[in-house]
Amino acid sequence: MFGKVLIANRGEVAVRVIRACREMGVSTVAVYSEADSEALHVHLADESICIGPPPVTDSYLNMTSILSAAVCSGAEAIHPGYGLLSENSKFASLCTTCGIAFIGPPPDVIDAMGDKDNARKTMSKADVPVVPGSNVINDINKAKVAAERIGFPLLIKAKAGGGGRGIRQVEKPEDFKNACETASAEAMAAFSDGGLYLEKLISPARHIEVQIMADKHGNVLCLGERECSLQRRNQKVLEESPSPAINEEQRERLYHIASRAARAVGYQNAGTIEFLMDENGHFYFMEMNTRLQVEHPVTEMVTGIDIVKWQIRVAAGHRLPWKQKDISINGHAMECRINAENPHENYRPSCGKITLLHVPGGPGVRFDSAIYQGYTVPPFYDSMIGKLIVHANTREEAIRKMHSALSELVIEGIEHNLELQLAITRDDEFLLGKYDTSFLTRKKVL
Ligand code: ADP
Ligand code: ADP
Ligand code: MG
Repeated sequence: MFGKVLIANRGEVAVRVIRACREMGVSTVAVYSEADSEALHVHLADESICIGPPPVTDSYLNMTSILSAAVCSGAEAIHPGYGLLSENSKFASLCTTCGIAFIGPPPDVIDAMGDKDNARKTMSKADVPVVPGSNVINDINKAKVAAERIGFPLLIKAKAGGGGRGIRQVEKPEDFKNACETASAEAMAAFSDGGLYLEKLISPARHIEVQIMADKHGNVLCLGERECSLQRRNQKVLEESPSPAINEEQRERLYHIASRAARAVGYQNAGTIEFLMDENGHFYFMEMNTRLQVEHPVTEMVTGIDIVKWQIRVAAGHRLPWKQKDISINGHAMECRINAENPHENYRPSCGKITLLHVPGGPGVRFDSAIYQGYTVPPFYDSMIGKLIVHANTREEAIRKMHSALSELVIEGIEHNLELQLAITRDDEFLLGKYDTSFLTRKKVL
C-alpha cells in the first residue's frame, strides 16, 4: 500500500479522498491555489502545498506544479478526483514518468474511452450499441449529409465537453451550419478544442449509468446502476440507485453490455459507463467517465463498498475480493447536489461567506462537502459545494428521509438550490419514479 498520496483536486472530492486515506492509515498531501488557503481539504491533509494563483489553468491544471509538489513531498501516488486533470492521459503518463502511481486507468485506456469520439468508435467495434451519430466533423458539407441521415432535431456535441457543457440542440436543417460555427467557437473557448460530433436526439430519454470497478488482474465488476435523469441543462441535479425505471431483465442486459464495454478496453480502476434509455427500453452508450464520479456515494450506500478506498487499493495492485455474484444491492440511496447558485438569477453561481451552517444527521444520512461555518466560497470554481446522500430500505422511505434531511439543512450567507431540491422531493411524478431528462424543463420549477 502507498505510504503517502497527493490529492490533485479541491472541494468536496478532495475531502472525500483525504478521509478515505486517513481511515486507511495513508498520509495525505493537499495542493491548493492562493484562493483556497482556508479550504477544508488544506486543513484536513497532513501536508499542504500552494501550487499557484486562483485560476485553475495556473494551479489545479498546472501539471508541472502538481508533479513538483508530489516529488518534493515524497508522495507515491496521485488521486485526481473528478473534473480537472482526472481524464487527462498526458497527466496520467507524466505521473508514471515521475515514478508516481496515477490512481485511475492507464493512459491508453483514458485515450480509448475518456475521449468521447474515440469511445464511440471503440464501443461500436465491441458491439456495444452507441447513440446514432457521426464521427468528428471536419467538413461542413459532409457534416450536413451526416445530419440529414441522422435527422432533426439533433445534438451537436463538443468532443472535449463535460459537466453538461458543450451540447447544442438543432431543430431544423436551416440552422445547422450556423449552429456548427457557434458551437465550435464556444467549444474552442471553453475546452481549447473546437472538435464537434453529431448525435441523434433521444427523446424522451432516461440517463442510466453503470459503476464499474476493475483491478489489474482482469477482474471487472458492475456495482449496480444509477438513475441520473434528473438534470438541469444536461447537468445532474439528483441521482438515485437502483433506477426506478428498469426491471430485472433490463438490468441484467445493462450490466452485460457495461461489463462487455469495460472488458473490451481492458478497463482498470473505477469508471462509469453512461447510457441513454429510449422509450422502448433500448440502451445506447453515451460516454464513459474514466474516473471517480460525483454521484459515487449512492452506489457506496447500496453496495456497502467504499469506492475511493478500492480505487487506491486497486492502483496499488490489490485484487478485488469479490465476484459479480457477491455484489448485492441493498435498499435505496439518493443524492441531492447542493450548489451555490442563485435561483432568482437563473441559477447563476453564487459566492460569499457562509454565516450559518447546520448539517442534518440521523441514521442513513450522509453529507459530503467541503464547507464549514465561516468559510468563504470563492468565485473561481465549480458551484457544487456539497452532496446530501440518504439510504433507506425502500425508495419511498429514501425520498421521505431526503425531504426531511433537506428541510433540516441550513446554509445562510450564500444563495443555493435547496428549494429546488425540496420541490423535486415533493413532486408527484418524481414520487412515482416517472421522470425523464426533460422533467425540470417541463415542470417549470426553474
Ligand atoms: P458527473 O457525471 O460525475 O457529474 P461531470 O461530467 O458532470 O461528471 O463532471 C464532473 C465534474 O467536473 C463537474 O463538477 C463538472 O463541472 C466538471 N467538469 C467535467 N468536465 C468538464 C469540462 N470539460 N469543463 C469544465 N468542467 C468540467
Ligand atoms: P457530459 O460529458 O457533459 O456529461 P454527456 O454526453 O454525458 O455530456 O451528456 C450529458 C447529458 O445530456 C445527458 O445525461 C443527457 O441528459 C443529455 N444528452 C446527451 N446526449 C443526448 C442525446 N443524444 N439525446 C438526448 N439527450 C442527450
Ligand atoms: Mg456525461
